[in-house]
Amino acid sequence: MSNTNGRIAIVTGAARGIGAAIAQRLAADGLAVAVLDLDEASSKSVVDVIESAGGRALPVGVDVSDAASVDAAVTRVAEELGDPTVLVNNAGVTRDNLLFKMSDEDWDSVMNVHLRGSFLMSRAVQRYMTAHKWGRIVNLSSTSALGNRGQANYSAAKAGIQGFTKTLAIELGKFGVTVNAIAPGFIETEMTAATAERVGVTFEEFKAAAAAQIPVGRTGKPEDIAHTVSFFVSEGAAFVSGQVIYVAGGPRA
Ligand code: NAP
Repeated sequence: MSNTNGRIAIVTGAARGIGAAIAQRLAADGLAVAVLDLDEASSKSVVDVIESAGGRALPVGVDVSDAASVDAAVTRVAEELGDPTVLVNNAGVTRDNLLFKMSDEDWDSVMNVHLRGSFLMSRAVQRYMTAHKWGRIVNLSSTSALGNRGQANYSAAKAGIQGFTKTLAIELGKFGVTVNAIAPGFIETEMTAATAERVGVTFEEFKAAAAAQIPVGRTGKPEDIAHTVSFFVSEGAAFVSGQVIYVAGGPRA
């Protein structure tokens, strides 16, 4: 699908789950991929998979909520892989609780990783995109942006990401940069496995209950999201910007 051979991509939160699948897909599309996560060592296994398939990748440690850490990581990518012109803001955390039990820390940590993290990463990388007059930013939203019990913090952050996406699309379009968002429904990762544990059911039970509510009759895989990222990043998607695609097996999960 892609004709983006040789471009440099950054994927955050890419040591596992959806981010790992996105990193592997972009590498298979011919991009060199910086695999960013909190702990550089945890990104190494994804880099190994990419390299053993003949791709080019670099593990980089970063805390996306910390400006100095973000600037150092992006500079390192530019020095060791080349100027990054593709950015996937995927890093995420959940701190679910009903409003009356939600702590300040629950609220701040989710806002800091999803919203501040996407802001800091995008601000740091846009200078390479505008210089090259070409770029692609893909932000991870969620069906939770439409509201989800126990996720006041997460749903606010994921709705915020949709507004952030549309505004960057308006600001950066004249530089050949598109900015889009993907709102996944239920995807099988450690994040959803942890939610099953928190509510006290097995992951299999949790997935079966979710699949029963999803029009296509199954839960999502990380590769379902990676495929949509590949589309947004492709050369042919140059006229698609400021959009949110719900990848949820139906109109919403
Ligand atoms: P995941 O398995 O929990 O992976 C998230 C990754 O982000 C982890 O490797 C985590 O590292 C990393 N991370 C957390 N905080 C970070 C920080 N401050 N700086 C850098 N990296 C950080 O989650 P996932 O299910 O793949 O989700 C990926 C994205 O899709 C998230 O934005 C999530 O909100 C979104 N999403 C997921 C689903 C779903 O059903 N799974 C649905 C809708 C949207 P550590 O392991 O070290 O914490």
